[in-house]
Amino acid sequence: MGQHTSGGIHHHGYVEDAPLNTALSAHDRLSRLDAAEVLHTPDEVAQWLASTLRAAMGKVEDEVAFDDEWDQWIKFAQAGETITTGLRDGPTISVVAVSEDECRCEAAPLVPVGGKKRSR
Ligand SMILES: [Zn+2]
Repeated sequence: MGQHTSGGIHHHGYVEDAPLNTALSAHDRLSRLDAAEVLHTPDEVAQWLASTLRAAMGKVEDEVAFDDEWDQWIKFAQAGETITTGLRDGPTISVVAVSEDECRCEAAPLVPVGGKKRSR
C-alpha cells in the first residue's frame, strides 16, 4: 500500500437515500453527512463504488462488472475529482474529493514537532 493520490487528496464515500436530482451537493454532503467509507487510493474508490452500486441494485459481481465505469472512476479518482453516480430513483452514491484540511474523518493524529518516535 502506501500509494497516495497527489496533494493529500483522498475521497470520502457517501450513500444518500435520495435520487440524484434531490441529493445534496458535494459540498453539503461533506459538511452534513458522515462518510460511509474513507478511500485512500483510486483502486479503493473504484472498488467501493462497484460494490456499493451492486448492493443498491441487488446484483452480484458476475451480473455487473462495471468494466467501462471502472476505468473512468480510476481516472477521476487519480485526478482528485468528485464522482457521483447511483440509481435513477436513488440511492445517490458519491465519492467526494477531500483535502487533508477539509477532512473531519480522522481525529487528526497530529505528530508533535520534535516528538520522539515510539520505539517498539
Ligand atoms: Zn478524510
